[in-house]
Amino acid sequence: MALLEVNELAVQFGDFKAVDRISYQVEQGEVVGIVGESGSGKSVSSLAIMGLIDFPGKVTAKALHFDGQDLKTISEKARRKIVGADVAMIFQDPMTSLNPCFTVGYQIMEALKIHQGGSKKQRRDRAIELLNCVGIPDPENRLNVYPHQLSGGMSQRVMIAIAIACNPKLLIADEPTTALDVTIQGQIIELLLDLQKKDNMALVLITHDLALVAESANKIIVMYAGQIVEIGDANIIFKTPLHPYTQALLNSLPEFTKDKQRLASLSGVVPGKYDRPLGCLLNPRCPYADEKCRTSEPALHAFGKNRQVKCHYPLSIEGHPNYE
Ligand code: SF4
Ligand code: MG
Repeated sequence: MALLEVNELAVQFGDFKAVDRISYQVEQGEVVGIVGESGSGKSVSSLAIMGLIDFPGKVTAKALHFDGQDLKTISEKARRKIVGADVAMIFQDPMTSLNPCFTVGYQIMEALKIHQGGSKKQRRDRAIELLNCVGIPDPENRLNVYPHQLSGGMSQRVMIAIAIACNPKLLIADEPTTALDVTIQGQIIELLLDLQKKDNMALVLITHDLALVAESANKIIVMYAGQIVEIGDANIIFKTPLHPYTQALLNSLPEFTKDKQRLASLSGVVPGKYDRPLGCLLNPRCPYADEKCRTSEPALHAFGKNRQVKCHYPLSIEGHPNYE
């Protein structure tokens, strides 16, 4: 049984479908990359799984299971026990996630107190161990500093320490490096992957940057306008992307376009509440769009064992009448 099972998850704000019936699974110890431009529903879908969508957002799903528990029907109390402990999440901007009024040590120890209890001394020892674990030098003294005294990279390490405090089975990292310097980005991803391997923790990496997950992910989920447009094993998707949107994302990575004629980057942006087109949601931006694409929505078709693609012309793009 998968660690996380998401079946037809949808999130609506009024009549706007921020997430439109997405289904996927995360196995224990697996690294899953969820990629897509901003506005594609990556974050909202993860917040929905965590039970963090506030009114008036409406979350529905056919099934939502984590570690054998039904997240749709569990009590609020049981959910609070899971979220933050067995499933943890880190966000883009560590500076806004940490509370500026409390020391780093206090914030880590509070997280431990809520989920694990133990004596004050035990929590302090564990906090030092955690800071050590996320590569923060001189952890004993760092317990006493305030967030503003830390760099962005160090703050994100503290957030990761809080997230892994209770040994989660699943860590969802939402654009964990977007706010950081390029040199620090690699270090943070490396840290996340080290932790993932060490504890056989499942890691969901949400990013607009396909390069970030190119080497590390087992599975890739490509989202566009709230829908999954391609999903499958990472190595297969990187070798032979079948969806025009995946191709366009890959096309922005120089290492993937060598010796290959690929679709140029797409112009325009993800449709919002008022400009969702009929038919395939990508059609205004897709160079292969034809009448069929403009009038009928493609289904998510299965290709082989693990892969699905939502496009009318996934296999025959190069032979498509509009292809030049
Ligand atoms: Fe492009 Fe048509 Fe495929 Fe949509 S269905 S991605 S518009 S070719
Ligand atoms: Mg986001």
